[in-house]
Amino acid sequence: VTATELVEASLKRMDATEADVNAFVNRNDEAALKQAQALDAAGIKEDQLLAGIPLAVKDNILTQGLTTTASSKMLEHFTPVFDATVVEKLNQAGAINVGKTNLDEFAMGSSTETSYFGTTKNPWDLTRVPGGSSGGSAAAVAAGDVLGALGTDTGGSIRMPSAFNGVVGMKPTYGRVSRWGVIAFGSSFDQVGWITRTVKDNAILMSAISGQDDHDMTSSHQAVPDFAAGLDEASVKGLRIAVPKEYVSDAIDEDVREVIEAGLKHLESLGAIVDEVSLPHTKYGVPVYYILASSEASSNLQRFDGIRYGFRADDVKNLEDVYVKTRSEGFGEEVKRRIMLGTFSLSAGFYDAYFNKAAKVRRLIAQDFEKVFEDHDVIIGATGVSTAFKIGEDIDDPKKMYYNDILTVTANLAGVPAMSIPAGFSKKNGMPVGMQLIGKKYDEQTLYNTAYVFE
Ligand code: GLN
Repeated sequence: VTATELVEASLKRMDATEADVNAFVNRNDEAALKQAQALDAAGIKEDQLLAGIPLAVKDNILTQGLTTTASSKMLEHFTPVFDATVVEKLNQAGAINVGKTNLDEFAMGSSTETSYFGTTKNPWDLTRVPGGSSGGSAAAVAAGDVLGALGTDTGGSIRMPSAFNGVVGMKPTYGRVSRWGVIAFGSSFDQVGWITRTVKDNAILMSAISGQDDHDMTSSHQAVPDFAAGLDEASVKGLRIAVPKEYVSDAIDEDVREVIEAGLKHLESLGAIVDEVSLPHTKYGVPVYYILASSEASSNLQRFDGIRYGFRADDVKNLEDVYVKTRSEGFGEEVKRRIMLGTFSLSAGFYDAYFNKAAKVRRLIAQDFEKVFEDHDVIIGATGVSTAFKIGEDIDDPKKMYYNDILTVTANLAGVPAMSIPAGFSKKNGMPVGMQLIGKKYDEQTLYNTAYVFE
């Protein structure tokens, strides 16, 4: 099979599904085909591990010459002049970017409903959300457009959509993957990772984008394993699994819990040892995350001032007016809510009461994990408190929307790797259920090994 045939198949599938699903903000048909033809003509070089493979890229990751919008009016016509490091690595490996996927505006949301370009629909049931914020990436994989799509995860944005779409999503350890060229949301949380059909594909692709990068001082020098070569199902025998009681509590829908419990039984039957533990600060995860991530966002989003990038409002009288009008018109409601929340938490009078206190509780949440990992290899529970909800159901109630993230934000607060894998289907509505696996820092391998058992 040629690269051209692969890309054509992917584009054809997009032709068939996009009218319903709306997973892409921007398709890259022409350039992708050209790249594939060039690859076929030149022949594949030995180091091009991903030669000719059609993949998709979340639209908050910079792609040279191809608009990168973060699904915001603010960046509707913004064309980057360089590639993100992860994109550069994919290009070098011969992968082909067939399009930019939809997301919640600036990756703020859990349903892809805050996108300026319209909601993405869940391919399993078009009346339901695909989750967010990487909803376009997960839906593109679930719809069969591509076998892998890049996502970003600040508080669950890879894992939650993966769970809702019955696909595999990995948020690696903070520092594993360069953030250079990724539109910043919460810089101490953001990580790039993959949403794929299979665990093995995810492992292959993760090794391809990981590693230290001079452009990102938080990227780690830790050696990058060949995760796919290391896949080892047998290692589940004797694996010490911790199940936090907070992750299987009755705050989680029964149809979800049933599937997770069955998954744990399966692991036990293969020789894993399952213990109940507690992560007592889990209940503070949502408020702490939303204070800290919004604070970082309010600072990161300062740069969208009508001067440097993208959108600028018309009809302005002076510089102040440029700022106010551009930001009022260019940002959507949820983004403005975060900027206000963040600015408030960081303001002189409230810094100690909010930002500082949240930063302290963040440490306690990280310590919860450290303690459990003293004598366990992996933490397992549900990814979401429910299966994919209906479009429109939570969008007018920000607090309800935020609480959907209760099981995912803590891994970002602690910087540990976490993944979601398809574990079965809900008896209530037939939708996919995601199981979350959380690991020690830089131990993505154990997560991949455990996940591989379910493949
Ligand atoms: N849903 C969370 C939020 O709205 C997480 C988003 C993300 O991980 N980018 O902030």
